[in-house]
Order: sequence, then C-alpha cells, then structure tokens
Amino acid sequence: MHAGSLSRYRYRRKGCFRDPHDSFEDTVAENIRPQVRPAAEGWEQAKDETGRPRLQFAEPRRTQPPKHLADFAAAARGEFVAQHGVPAFRAKQLSTHYFSHFTSDPADMTDLPAQGRDELVAHALPPLLTEVKRLHTDNGDTIKFLWRLFDGALVESVLMRYPGRITLCVSSQAGCGMNCPFCATGQAGLTRNMSSAEIIDQIVRANQAIARGELGGKKVGNSPERVSNIVFMGMGEPLANYNRLMHAVRTMVAPAPMGLGMSARNITVSTVGLVPAMQKLAAEEIPVTLALSLHAPDDGLRDELIPVNSRWKVDEALDAAKAYFDATGRRVSIEYALIKDMNDHAWRADLLGKKLNDRGRGWVHVNPIPLNPTPGSIWTASTGPVTREFIDRLESAGIPTTLRDTRGKEIDGACGQLAAAD
Ligand code: SAH
Repeated sequence: MHAGSLSRYRYRRKGCFRDPHDSFEDTVAENIRPQVRPAAEGWEQAKDETGRPRLQFAEPRRTQPPKHLADFAAAARGEFVAQHGVPAFRAKQLSTHYFSHFTSDPADMTDLPAQGRDELVAHALPPLLTEVKRLHTDNGDTIKFLWRLFDGALVESVLMRYPGRITLCVSSQAGCGMNCPFCATGQAGLTRNMSSAEIIDQIVRANQAIARGELGGKKVGNSPERVSNIVFMGMGEPLANYNRLMHAVRTMVAPAPMGLGMSARNITVSTVGLVPAMQKLAAEEIPVTLALSLHAPDDGLRDELIPVNSRWKVDEALDAAKAYFDATGRRVSIEYALIKDMNDHAWRADLLGKKLNDRGRGWVHVNPIPLNPTPGSIWTASTGPVTREFIDRLESAGIPTTLRDTRGKEIDGACGQLAAAD
C-alpha cells in the first residue's frame, strides 16, 4: 500500500450533502446493483492442484544476503564483529554510524582505526539495497524507491511526507505468496523472504535521503527529520516472514545507538489475516498497530478476493483482531479496498458494522480505500456516492471510519501497485 496514511478529513466533509429524496433512489439502485465476481483480468492467477488460487508460504528461493549488523540483537553484535578480529566495543561505534548517522561509508567513520577499517565495514555493514530507480511526485513529497537485492530480486518502498509525520511503506518479502487478484504484487508470486537487515535498510536509506534534503514538501521547523511512521504495506505478507519481521521491529524500537529509537505504536503491520501469527504477535508485548486487510465481510466473496480466506475465515480473522486489541490495547484497523460493484454494496457495510459491533465497541476502526487499478485490470474504484454511502452506514453503526488517501498513484506507488519492475 502505500498509502500509508490516513487523510484527516472524512469524505463527507468534502461538502457532498445529499438531497433526502436521494435515499429512495439509492435504495432502488442498491437493489439492482450487480454483483461482480473477482476474476483475474489480463493475467492468469496461479492455481493449486485442486483448482484454488495457489498460496505460497514456502520460499522458492532460500538464499539470504550476507549477515549484517542489523541482523543481530544488540547483545550479539560484539561477537559478530569479534569474528573479524576487532574488540566488541566496535559494534557500538558501527551501530551509531548506521542507526544514528545512516551511513555505511567507511570514509565517514574516522573514530575507527584506519588500518582494516574498510574490511571491517564491508564485513559488518555489507551493501544490501542497490538503488535502481527513484520516482517522485510533482512536488516531491512522495518518493518511490526501487531496490535491487544482492541476488537480483527487486523490491520497492515508498516515502511520504505528511503534515507532522514522515511515513515509509516498507516491503517484507520479494514478491508475495498470497495471490490476491486485485493486487499487483501477488501476480508474480513469492520469490523469497527479506532478511531483517534488508527490511531495516529501507528505513536507513530513506533517512539518508531525508537528511540530504531529497524529500520535498513542506518541512516543519528546522530540526533534523527522519522517518517517524512505518507501514508494512509494501510488497509481501509480513506475518509470513514472522521471525525476521519481529527482529526488524525490535531493532526499529530499540533506543539509539543500538536501534532506530522508533515508537512501536507508529509501526503498522498489515496482514491478510494469518490467524496463528496474529495470535503470536499479540503475545509479543510490542504494541505495534495491527491492520487487517478484510475487504469483504462475507466468506462467499472473501474466499475469492483474499485466497487465504480458505484457511482462516472472516470470523476467525476478526476474532484474532479483537484478541489483539484485548492483549495490547491498540485499536485495530480494518482495511477495505472499495471495488465497484464487487464489495461496495450497502448490505456489506451493514454486515461489516454488525460483525465489528458484535465483538465490542471502541476496539476497531475501518479504513476504506478506493481501489488503485493495477495494470491490465478492468476493476475500478467505487463511485463517490457509493463510497459515501458505505462510510455513512459504518459511521451510523458507531464505527469510526476514515477514507484513506492514496498517495503515489501517478507513480504506481499506491497500495497494491508495487510490482517492482525496472
Ligand atoms: N500483505 C499485507 C500487506 C501488503 S498490501 C496485506 O495484505 O495486508 C497493503 C494493503 O494494500 C492491503 O490492505 C492490501 O489489501 C491493499 N491493496 C492491495 N492491492 C490494492 C489495490 N489495488 N488497491 C487498493 N489497495 C490495495
């Protein structure tokens, strides 16, 4: 996704007030609105032996990049640098350069002995992401980076400046095995999991770009800026790469100089609904924000829209989301891409509101997002009035609902558009 973040205003405030007579027509229109079924358009969805959309949990490619300082917990870094024959305290110096000054260049590290410095840095901070391409929006407040990994795999991250915060949408896997038919990333399947350091390096490189003044948009104040919010809405299913994800999250929240010193609540992990991993996450005692990509409140449709629904049904995913709130006190986000005539019917808004309310109040909010078209797809975003109706119905059921603003559409950097081609 990318879009990382939420527009502060509600759709309705755009001044779209309805004539009371509209509601009758809406109801009639509602009754005759077609039900479009999900189908792959312009490409073939991979199927398993039973004819169902193929789900990939195992990585076809098992190679991982060379070990990097960021792959180790702070306490294990001394031993890692000691393998190179230098005293353990060098690990702290290297950590400071990397996590606080965002550099992996030995020329910047004059506190390390010149003798053997290049070799030490090459061992501890090997290059992980090679920048292949950078696209930005007109005013430069959104940048999409295309990175090549050590084995040639391509991934993307999207950096967005908002008033008062800077959000980075990061990838957690090269490709994705979840095969959702409306998402560009899933179409090519999974290549491999990213290492923890590959995940972290996306943030370090974004911080480096910010420090060099490369992110446009209006800066607030004169103090140095850095990424404040992370959304795991880039390529991949983060909970399918659980251990590396969790190590990366721990490094993000570890205080400087051993980590990035970020706040867990500003980190959003978005999932298709891998229930056992959601339960595990709830027990970690790291209060990251959880987002569940629901997109349909009924199994009939969700089975087709989110293939992993064949394993964990809507109610199980919602129960796990509520349990996450109970364990962490963090309000869960429900992601809902509004697709014209497919999942945007008023009855679905009502059913979603009911299912959420059945599990309690105040634990959840909904983020509808207009579908971002992917190449070759004939699916389109819901119309304005239908979007408004959907939101109104959820709000009148007492569910806080915020339309997500999609950034980066013009550079294919919006949710579901990351295909990583150069
Ligand atoms: N695998 C994770 C995270 C990556 S996708 C997940 O599914 O949650 C991040 C978000 O973008 C998800 O909510 C996903 O459903 C949504 N998304 C995917 N394709 C989209 C599209 N074409 N338009 C709008 N949102 C999309």
